[in-house]
Amino acid sequence: MKIWYVGAYGIVSTTAMVGGVLIERNELTRTGLVSELPHFEGIGRYAPLKFEFGGHEIRKAENAYDATFQHWEANRHFEGHLLEKVRDELEKIRAQTGTAINCGSGVQALGELETLESENLTLSQIVERLDQDLRKFSDGDTVMINSASTEPLLNYSQQYHGSLDGFEKMIEDDVREHASASILYAYVALKNGIPYGNFTPSAGSSIPALKELAIEKKVPHAGNDGKTGETLVKTTLAPMFAYRNLRVLGWMSYNILGDLDGLVLSHSENRESKVISKDRVLEKVYGYSPFSITQIEYFPSLVDNKTAFDFIHFEGFLGTKMKFYFIWDAIDAIVAAPLTIDIARFLLFAKKKGEHGVIKELGFFFKSPMDTDNVNTHSQFEELVRWFEETM
Ligand code: NAD
Repeated sequence: MKIWYVGAYGIVSTTAMVGGVLIERNELTRTGLVSELPHFEGIGRYAPLKFEFGGHEIRKAENAYDATFQHWEANRHFEGHLLEKVRDELEKIRAQTGTAINCGSGVQALGELETLESENLTLSQIVERLDQDLRKFSDGDTVMINSASTEPLLNYSQQYHGSLDGFEKMIEDDVREHASASILYAYVALKNGIPYGNFTPSAGSSIPALKELAIEKKVPHAGNDGKTGETLVKTTLAPMFAYRNLRVLGWMSYNILGDLDGLVLSHSENRESKVISKDRVLEKVYGYSPFSITQIEYFPSLVDNKTAFDFIHFEGFLGTKMKFYFIWDAIDAIVAAPLTIDIARFLLFAKKKGEHGVIKELGFFFKSPMDTDNVNTHSQFEELVRWFEETM
């Protein structure tokens, strides 16, 4: 299968490429890949573990090897000999220039960028270029995954985002203030019948116009924002308090991380999308909103080693108050990368089975699953298994 990463030189995408190549060669265990659990036996017939990678990017690098090496030097996030084993394959992967329209000051801070905007293109011309790049690469087995930096909240407009006609009018009339990179990439994917998975909190395919397009073109899509760390633990643990009828009074989540993702999120407009995405889950689990603090802070020396401190204050029998604490300390790209492959595989499976529109059963993979309020990891997993069995 072919995976087109938006943000192809980022640490999540490049880590997935390293793992993908090694798995294809049978030189790596499948640990971390949900789609390789026995529950999903048979998925390989529709989405085999054979990969070709491509993508869009706005940061300069020679090729995917060069980009991966830069991440590896900063992070040492896996054993170095693994990278050398895949050097030849990664050197052949060269990302195409993408758009960074309305991606905020966080993305501008990434350094010297090469974007389609620097060529003074109109929205129609930008879309045309993205479209050409994707068409050159894609076939019937291609999926687009958005793993680019988090954008600021979309400047939502019912006129331009509420319907497909409006969206296309926005492009035609070059209404730039309502455009954003993630919605343009998603548009191009869906228009070409390519399933789209949004691993970021950016708007992507979640606006009504693009949901309409997905239905019209009969393409599956899913998002938003990969559930990989602190929110994964939170939505696995939070139901426990509900099952025992304990009242959660307050939940504090304090996240520190470095690396490029942390740098981008240190800019408040880019961080806003992420905080909202992380923050909404408690209300959905409990049906009430406990007092909640969600903070994300940039901590450069940690690089990709994200640490989250959570403190939960809850009330039990006789009104007695008690406390629970946990610390999550993980390498972000290592927990995230295999999920991008899983999402791509399930979306391709869905497409081949004729499923289209939002595949809400893939909510298991996301912090802000589209079109469902189910954020409970346990029932999300059961839902995924049931959907897979029924669709198979
Ligand atoms: P990263 O900064 O290493 O990679 C992002 C890449 O996207 C960079 O190479 C950047 O240059 C590129 N990019 C930025 N804007 C772009 C655009 N408009 N078009 C094309 N490329 C663009 O970050 P990462 O750690 O790989 O995370 C990627 C995304 O996944 C982030 O949005 C992050 O919030 C999200 N995410 C990550 C995790 C996790 O790592 N555990 C979990 C959930 C979501």
